Amino acid sequence: MIVRSLWKGAISFGLVHIPIKMFAATEEKDVRFHLLHKECHNPIQYQKRCPHCDREVTPEEIVKGFEYDKGRYVIVTQEELEGIAPEGSRAIDIQSFVNLKDIDPIYFAKTYYLSPDQHGQKAYALLRNALQQSDRLALARVILRTKEALVALRVYGKGLAMHTMLYPEEIRSMEPLGDLGEGIDVSEKEQTMAVQLIESLTESFDPEKWQSEHRKRIRQFIDAKVQGQAIVEAPQAPAAGKVIDLMEALKASIQQAKTQQKAETPKKARRKTS
Ligand SMILES: [Zn+2]
Repeated sequence: MIVRSLWKGAISFGLVHIPIKMFAATEEKDVRFHLLHKECHNPIQYQKRCPHCDREVTPEEIVKGFEYDKGRYVIVTQEELEGIAPEGSRAIDIQSFVNLKDIDPIYFAKTYYLSPDQHGQKAYALLRNALQQSDRLALARVILRTKEALVALRVYGKGLAMHTMLYPEEIRSMEPLGDLGEGIDVSEKEQTMAVQLIESLTESFDPEKWQSEHRKRIRQFIDAKVQGQAIVEAPQAPAAGKVIDLMEALKASIQQAKTQQKAETPKKARRKTS
């Protein structure tokens, strides 16, 4: 459940000013463990210590330093950082519009929801409808806290979602991975079979279908432990078959996909394979 807005500001769409509130759109669902002292099972506490003064320090005693040289720091205050932030830093400043297919998913970082703030409803609706009609995303710059972010705004559900995006320099090169088999010849027959396998496993994306099986098992395991029951056993991983021949493996996979399809209830039309 969304509790409170993380940020308030405005979208600048040309000269149109749209007051908005920002909310986190996603949340972690991982099973979290606490770190306890093995002897007494009390949660471990973390102390902030200065090794030089050999004592614990309070938050008021902590400042930010940038290490410009080994062991040499320049101290920067929050006020100074805010002073550097450009004018109108409470604005999501739309710079241009692009097609979704032109953005590689690698650039998307985190997603937020935007809702209209006071007196912003009409302008918000206008932008949302216009984005929908033109089938585009808006690229914008925004300063969140002291970090400048590139963001993409798009229609999601009945409203607007904002994706923070990575900068090109934050994307690592694949070069160090070396040879990725670009030069290897694959026979036409093998390729055709592989495409056929893809076709037989193609369906429309249904997010509800994709639950975390592993997380579910950890929960079951913990519930059983709490109740003092025997521990649930981990399911056997399928034995890794010895794949000797690529063609044989492909044929067997297609056969398996067909059998699975027959077993499923045919409520959803799947793409036919010959
Ligand atoms: Zn100290």
